[in-house]
Amino acid sequence: MTKPKVAFYWCASCGGCEEAVIDLAEDILKVVDAVDIVLWPVAMDFKKSDIKAMADGSIAVSFINGAIRTSEQDEWAKLLRKKSGLVVAFGACSHLGGIPGLANLSSRQNLFDTVYINTPTVNNPDNVFPQTSSIVAEGELELPEISEEVRALNQVIDVDYYLPGCAPPPNLIMDAVMAILSGNLPEKGTVLAPDKSLCDTCPRKESKPDKLKISSVKRISMTTIPDDKCFLAEGIVCLGPATRSGCGDRCINANMPCRGCFGPTKAVQDQGAKFLSGFSSLFDSDNETAINTFAESVIDPAGLFYMFSLASSLKTKFHDRS
Ligand code: SF4
Ligand code: SF4
Repeated sequence: MTKPKVAFYWCASCGGCEEAVIDLAEDILKVVDAVDIVLWPVAMDFKKSDIKAMADGSIAVSFINGAIRTSEQDEWAKLLRKKSGLVVAFGACSHLGGIPGLANLSSRQNLFDTVYINTPTVNNPDNVFPQTSSIVAEGELELPEISEEVRALNQVIDVDYYLPGCAPPPNLIMDAVMAILSGNLPEKGTVLAPDKSLCDTCPRKESKPDKLKISSVKRISMTTIPDDKCFLAEGIVCLGPATRSGCGDRCINANMPCRGCFGPTKAVQDQGAKFLSGFSSLFDSDNETAINTFAESVIDPAGLFYMFSLASSLKTKFHDRS
């Protein structure tokens, strides 16, 4: 019997999603046994020409991790879309833009100036920036172009399903693989994780008051809290109320607040805005000076509330055009 063909591809990400596949441990043997892996650059040597030569739609499913930041990633995403029956956005960066998406707070030129000119340890007297071609002894090399902004996968190609998380946990990956292999799939566009907020599954939820009010914001690095107390109730920003469950409460169990890597539930369009609207109502004062002090005590609010979802937020362009 012919096995279904499966591809894995890595775009703008840290590589943790590739590790998550390895973290399947002995279950990876079940996957390898059940499918024919036709592309997995981090582990096997396949060429773009191999994929181009395949018939359109002949790959059963492509798992693409990482955001899209370069012309090469754009090209691969479109090629895999053409060759695949299903495309799964694998992990937070592919699903929402992830942490690479925070680069959208600056223009490309500002990023280049910071990285290649203004960083104190950089020595670049000729102001050389990344090029799209380079002449070497063997001839001219064509190099990927860095795009103006970071995009989530569904801002580049049509996506069938989403596996959330930084990185997706092994149980959700196996559930997704088994659902795909059996053809027992939910509606197109589904995020393959429970559609409840993290607060619903949090082991600390009993300590979160129904009418929560806080008078100041503390930083997790500057305080200690008991390991059974709700972070928000203790004045520590925790994105649990605006974040989908299914991660196994990983950060909470490590005594760290949620940063939102699973993205919002289905009912929420913009995770950062949803959290901000709830969070701003928690402050227990009508005094303008006190409210300003409270707001200023949140260090880097855009980076905190949109840590994983800026690229796919309603306000996708925060670019500093100066
Ligand atoms: S706010 Fe955070 S710590 Fe509190 S119940 Fe929700 S997920 Fe748990
Ligand atoms: S607790 Fe939040 S940030 Fe941590 S893994 Fe779960 S969803 Fe992601």
